[in-house]
Amino acid sequence: MEEEIRPLPKFDYFSPHSLHDLSTLLKQLKGGISFLAGGTDLLVNMKKRITIPKVIIDINRIQELSFIEKRSNNIHVGSVTRLNNLIESSIVQENVPLLTEAIRFLASHPIRNRATIGGNLCTASPAADAAPPLLALNASVKLKSPDDEKIVPLSEFFVGPRQTVRKHNEILTEIIIPCEKGSNAFMKLGRRRGFTLSVVSVAAFGIIKGDKFEDIRIALGGVAPTPIRAYKIEEMLKGVEVSDRSIEKAAEIAKSISKPSKRAKRASVEYREAMARVLTKRVLMKIAFEERG
Ligand SMILES: Cc1cc2nc3c(=O)[nH]c(=O)nc-3n(C[C@H](O)[C@H](O)[C@H](O)COP(=O)(O)OP(=O)(O)OC[C@H]3O[C@@H](n4cnc5c(N)ncnc54)[C@H](O)[C@@H]3O)c2cc1C
Repeated sequence: MEEEIRPLPKFDYFSPHSLHDLSTLLKQLKGGISFLAGGTDLLVNMKKRITIPKVIIDINRIQELSFIEKRSNNIHVGSVTRLNNLIESSIVQENVPLLTEAIRFLASHPIRNRATIGGNLCTASPAADAAPPLLALNASVKLKSPDDEKIVPLSEFFVGPRQTVRKHNEILTEIIIPCEKGSNAFMKLGRRRGFTLSVVSVAAFGIIKGDKFEDIRIALGGVAPTPIRAYKIEEMLKGVEVSDRSIEKAAEIAKSISKPSKRAKRASVEYREAMARVLTKRVLMKIAFEERG
């Protein structure tokens, strides 16, 4: 049966050219605002009537939101940076390769030409592919309202499916990622090999000294109402010998902390829990192999 084509609900449209103009505009508006970045989530949600904004603020003309810079030991990425620009960036490849690895598998080339890193985080999908690597890298986000600016650790940003701590008059302006030397692993499982949303994804950053895990940070997508950091695994592995036994134990914890929604599409609760275990084992084995050779 052919899908009925309905016009989008009416909305007011603004397209400020600077953060200063955006602040002036936000002071005048009351609510019902959606920011338009790449539009690859927003327009789909508007067509499905999941989101019905009264006002759309197009942030694509704000040049101050598109940049990738290394400042002291952090990478700063403007929220409207396109995913393909991030993949191509030598600054990102050299300093935070885990992010490159994760977004290389996100959607398709045409989508990544439009889609932005800020949009991927603000959409707050439990399966957003940029979230697990950025959680494992201890990233933070900068939120700006007309009167205030604050930095929030990404681990405190997501509060539920499609919900974040961001207020209606706050814009995510940049993502701040600390640079650290270590090994990285990202694995994503979708319903097919490519061009698809994750059913489960796992990202890990790790350092091994001698035969022991010195530092491991691990985050999972698609297994809970929000992307999650697996602190229980991290605590269990710290200072522990790298072995099949410790990795197997960590994988079991990944399964036990997974609480996927029964209503989530694309895979059952049981499958997601089982795959959280499998992917966690594989990322830890990859890190162990890379660090020890
Ligand atoms: C065919 C297809 C395949 C896809 N595959 C994947 C995939 O494999 N993995 C994946 O993770 N995603 C996937 N997506 C989802 C989507 O492409 C990404 O989430 C993308 O990064 C969203 O970015 P955007 O710039 O298009 O966001 P938009 O659609 O512009 O915005 C998304 C939401 O975030 C808000 N927002 C955007 N920027 C800001 C900001 N700076 N401050 C405050 N709020 C903001 C918007 O108001 C909106 O609510 C897919 C989408 C499509 C259509």
